[in-house]
Amino acid sequence: MKDHATQAFASKMKVPFFDYTRVYASEGPRYDAVLKDVLYRSDFIMRQDLLAFEKELAQYIGVRHVIGVANGTDAIWLALLAGGIKPGDEVIMPSHTYVATAGAARTIGAIPVLVDCGDDHLIDPKSVNSVVSTTSKALIPVQLNGRTAKMDPLMDIARQNNLIIVEDSAQGLGSRYKGRMAGTFGLAGTYSFFPAKVLGCFGDGGAVVTDNDNVAEKIRLLRDHGRDEKGNIRCWGFNSRLDNIQAAILFEKLKTFDRDISQRRKIAKLYHEGLSDIHSLLLPAAPEEEPDHFDTYQNFEVEVTESRDELREFLANEGVGTIVQWGGKALHQMKELGFKEKNLPRTDLLFQRAIMLPMNQYLSEIEAEYVIYKIREFYDVQ
Ligand SMILES: *Cc1c(COP(=O)(O)O)cnc(C)c1O
Repeated sequence: MKDHATQAFASKMKVPFFDYTRVYASEGPRYDAVLKDVLYRSDFIMRQDLLAFEKELAQYIGVRHVIGVANGTDAIWLALLAGGIKPGDEVIMPSHTYVATAGAARTIGAIPVLVDCGDDHLIDPKSVNSVVSTTSKALIPVQLNGRTAKMDPLMDIARQNNLIIVEDSAQGLGSRYKGRMAGTFGLAGTYSFFPAKVLGCFGDGGAVVTDNDNVAEKIRLLRDHGRDEKGNIRCWGFNSRLDNIQAAILFEKLKTFDRDISQRRKIAKLYHEGLSDIHSLLLPAAPEEEPDHFDTYQNFEVEVTESRDELREFLANEGVGTIVQWGGKALHQMKELGFKEKNLPRTDLLFQRAIMLPMNQYLSEIEAEYVIYKIREFYDVQ
């Protein structure tokens, strides 16, 4: 351990898992200027800031169409619907995902089929192969924790079985696999701009991205009551628009998105340097460890093979907030949702071991050093 750390941490610090007060306060004046401008122009719904953001994000991702929608959950079911998924169709997804992924399938009457994850915590192609059948119509790889899954085997399975792919990239925006951005592998990809996501707005927001002109046109209609650009109603639709004001904030934040990702990668590197020699911890890959991956560290999900709950409690007492994803349960463990008993051994093991350390662009290096110092203290390695 570095000497300065030992010195600095004689007293307790407070490192919450995620401090929402920093989202705005970190750069208040910058956002005030945007809000004031939009409000004075009275540009509220489906205005130029939305178009500008959609165009800018499309360029950033390298995709033909970005369609802003009300949130990341709507983005998933709108993409499934536009992709032709019908009531009764089976949609394969990992059990290790937010309830929103399954909820989105349910919204359009489709049936979520849950599969296991691999050691990278992402959907396991072998598990997908074991459930795929003629009633399977879509595959949703979930690009969790700021990492894009190894997409080659998943795309092969989709091709062989005529499944459409909709990537739930709510946690994956900006991450890449073999140089290609999360969200761009399948028929469509989806993002969430929930405030705690790497690119977050000041409320709800989401987007669908696609290279398919037909799918894009359908989603543009569906999100705005079936109305086309001239105001003619062309089909039944919904209201799932991304607010113009949120779009303006997102346009502004996109300018410094790469900087925010860099800060997360810097924190991930520190965690690696400070924790990789502790045998009870299995860390996510370090920033430069795997050449096929560029990770944005939406989360830093660690497996703790010894005394996980005691570690969490110790850290809590020392002022460090940690969480277990999705309130501690994978989807197949949520009996309340009517999922039947399922043998998903890797996911079960993961949820016995997992904790997420504080990880976001608002976290300082000193705070990360404090987290490291306290974990080393718990395992008595100095
Ligand atoms: C955040 C999230 C969503 C949902 O996004 P909302 O914008 O909150 O609707 C969906 N899937 C995953 C994996 C998420 O993390």
